[in-house]
Amino acid sequence: MSVIPRVLIGGLVLPFVVVVPIALAMMAPGSGVGSEDSVDSTASDGTARVSVFNTDGELVGPVDMPRLELTEDEWRERLTDEQFRILRTDGTEAAFCGTLLDNKKAGVYSCAGCGLPLFSSEAKFTSGTGWPSFFRPIAEGNVTEKADISFGMVRTEIECARCDGHLGHVFEDGPAPTGRRHCLNSESLVFTEKSDLASLGEVRQVVLAGGCFWCVEAVFEELAGVVEVVSGYAGGEPSDADYQKVITGMTGHAEAVRITYRPGVITLPELLRVHFATHDPTTLNRQGADVGPQYRSAVFYSDRAEKAVVEAFIAELTELDVFEGRRIVTTLEPLNGPGGFHLAEAYHQDYVCNNPMNGYVRAVAMPKVEKVREEFADKLKEQPQP
Ligand SMILES: [Zn+2]
Repeated sequence: MSVIPRVLIGGLVLPFVVVVPIALAMMAPGSGVGSEDSVDSTASDGTARVSVFNTDGELVGPVDMPRLELTEDEWRERLTDEQFRILRTDGTEAAFCGTLLDNKKAGVYSCAGCGLPLFSSEAKFTSGTGWPSFFRPIAEGNVTEKADISFGMVRTEIECARCDGHLGHVFEDGPAPTGRRHCLNSESLVFTEKSDLASLGEVRQVVLAGGCFWCVEAVFEELAGVVEVVSGYAGGEPSDADYQKVITGMTGHAEAVRITYRPGVITLPELLRVHFATHDPTTLNRQGADVGPQYRSAVFYSDRAEKAVVEAFIAELTELDVFEGRRIVTTLEPLNGPGGFHLAEAYHQDYVCNNPMNGYVRAVAMPKVEKVREEFADKLKEQPQP
């Protein structure tokens, strides 16, 4: 077994997200008070500190979500022409024309660009301006503010904290209790009824490699917020996703696990923290006695935002010299090339659970599981898996 420095597994709190308060001096013309500081919830490491719904339909957080950053072409593919004009080019829809202006139903208004929940019907009011109006966002951090001096006016623009989509403006002439009026474009929002909020509970997947997949799978099965972990192969051709071929070390595949998780409960940086505490990311193509590129340390990312989160995580560990001079050799590889993730043979799934007396399981896998139970006790499922 590799020796992981105590500083990492000892519950180290890494400063992944720096929340920077910014004073908003810019007020709308004619506005009254408004000296409240706001919060810039975006950080330079590719995450946004926001609140999200879990699959039980409850708002939880704040958590560090990967930001959504797309090219202009990708946004055009994702959005209607009108949504693109408003969200991506700071457009404004005509007053009294928006589809959500008169919506009186109970529920949540999410970003039409990225799905982040932004406003609740509980804060909606009839302003008479012709645009949907809210006296506060659903959570601090989900909506960001910045000065807008276009059209010869000084206004405060509001944006989605996760994708920077333009939403509208905020003015200081709203009703109690905040005295603020968030003036929205209907086209920047998607409405979900209260009875359907569980559908907003996002589930994400990440593929990690760190030596024998029996061990990695067993480690992540322990964690609350992890819905499913399966063993498989990533990094090689689909036709080579076969255990007898992979163990030759000639296929390009790594033994890997695909983790399905609820970011409202456990975040990608938290998963990475466990991963880097339970394998040695500084030994090239090797974990203990398991040698070969199929045992390499790797993260298979599915988009640029996820890649940025992993890069920031590794940069942080490197800067803090967590591995005491040994270089992190973990590879970042695109999941979609060349062949994605391929499920391993059925007998490899839940191997540790199904083979507790196996010598390798007892010598290598169980100590890792025990380490997680000890060092990440606050992150475990309520009923630890054997
Ligand atoms: Zn958004």
